[in-house]
Amino acid sequence: MPLISDNGPMIDPFGRAVTYLRVSVTDRCDFRCTYCMAENMTFLPKKDLLTLEELERLCSTFIDKGVRKIRLTGGEPLVRKNIMHLISALGAKVKAGLLDELTLTTNGSQLTRYADELFAAGVRRINVSLDTLDPQKFKEITRWGDFGKVMEGIDAAQKAGLKIKLNAVALKGFNDLEIAGMMRFAHGRDMDLTVIETMPMGEIDEDRTDQYLPLSQVRADLEKQFTLNDIPYKTGGPARYVEVKETGGRMGFITPMTHNFCESCNRVRLTCTGTLYMCLGQNDAADLRTALRASDSNDYLSAAIDEAIGRKPKGHDFIIDRQHNKPAVARHMSVTGG
Ligand code: SAM
Ligand code: SF4
Repeated sequence: MPLISDNGPMIDPFGRAVTYLRVSVTDRCDFRCTYCMAENMTFLPKKDLLTLEELERLCSTFIDKGVRKIRLTGGEPLVRKNIMHLISALGAKVKAGLLDELTLTTNGSQLTRYADELFAAGVRRINVSLDTLDPQKFKEITRWGDFGKVMEGIDAAQKAGLKIKLNAVALKGFNDLEIAGMMRFAHGRDMDLTVIETMPMGEIDEDRTDQYLPLSQVRADLEKQFTLNDIPYKTGGPARYVEVKETGGRMGFITPMTHNFCESCNRVRLTCTGTLYMCLGQNDAADLRTALRASDSNDYLSAAIDEAIGRKPKGHDFIIDRQHNKPAVARHMSVTGG
């Protein structure tokens, strides 16, 4: 059982406070990024999904138990029908001071439609995933994406007042030579850029060993042209940041493979079927849907959450090399949303 103080956060067996909930609101997506999904994906039947009202009830229970930050992700969160219903309800929690931040990770394809509504609902920062600035390569990596639409989405979001962080997955032979240019682009438009190592999650159509690019190498390459100064800046996530002297901007590195950051993990991940994963890189999970549906009172649910937090593992053990050329976990990133 986790140690819970009267109104303090949930504490896991390793003494880490769990204050951050990531919610994958759908496993569906309008893109098929090659490192994330196979082209021919089988998605969950719609009937297995929690309703938006059920997701809201789950989130509220986590907030009651000390969660202060919620990130909506997916699949693509903005393709879920009526998603603004959930976003507005959670935004109201921010406005009431019950939640510090509501944010989302998106591929940007729907931002022209939703940017103003997101800001009005109380969202202030979003992450937009973008792996290249070359429209042709964008098509290659996302298979189904439209680069122009994403650029228009970024424009609309900035115009609406949303602060954007760009996330790029570092991919060997794909964008290694582009990272400097992407950094200049991001910093020129007042956006942070974070690069991420690929993680071995779910079967895809490609060989992950061919894609894996350690960020130690990305950093060494950048340092040939730029001065990177380590800074203690934190956004509540695992990125380690540097300030780039020449651009005056910030760049983050998320290195699950070369540097394991589990010791400061503050998060758990909920899927759109109500399964709670206590670690991105482990298979152990708790079924919260049954507890949610068992009663209108939240007592069962609260007990099921406590039991799950009491099982949060120390960390993941991702490895990508020729001997380990199998996913570390069978589920795709789109199930838990990264
Ligand atoms: N569709 C949204 C998007 O792309 O931003 C949200 C969900 S997506 C699964 C969240 C993040 O996970 C994206 O930045 C994506 O690039 C990243 N991602 C997906 N598969 C990954 C993998 N195998 N390793 C590392 N990052 C991955
Ligand atoms: Fe969709 Fe995001 Fe996965 Fe790309 S990374 S396929 S946009 S869920």
